[in-house]
Amino acid sequence: MEGPPWENYTDEEWHQMCHTFQDPGGNSALRKVTASNPRNLPCPTCGEPNRLTPADVQQGYQCNSCADRAEGRNFGSSDY
Ligand SMILES: [Zn+2]
Repeated sequence: MEGPPWENYTDEEWHQMCHTFQDPGGNSALRKVTASNPRNLPCPTCGEPNRLTPADVQQGYQCNSCADRAEGRNFGSSDY
């Protein structure tokens, strides 16, 4: 891998990504919050309220904190 991930996309593709994902290029796969897709649902894993959007739940996602834990990314650890 060379360079940041956004170098692999055209401006138009990147623009689309920015309108689809909350954190394009980042670790999160959560969907962007819009008027029709509010973040008003609890995380199924930790139960924290207002962590996910209906689109996230439809995809079977959990909140960023739980996703990070599940994927072994623990903030504060000395792995990095
Ligand atoms: Zn969670």
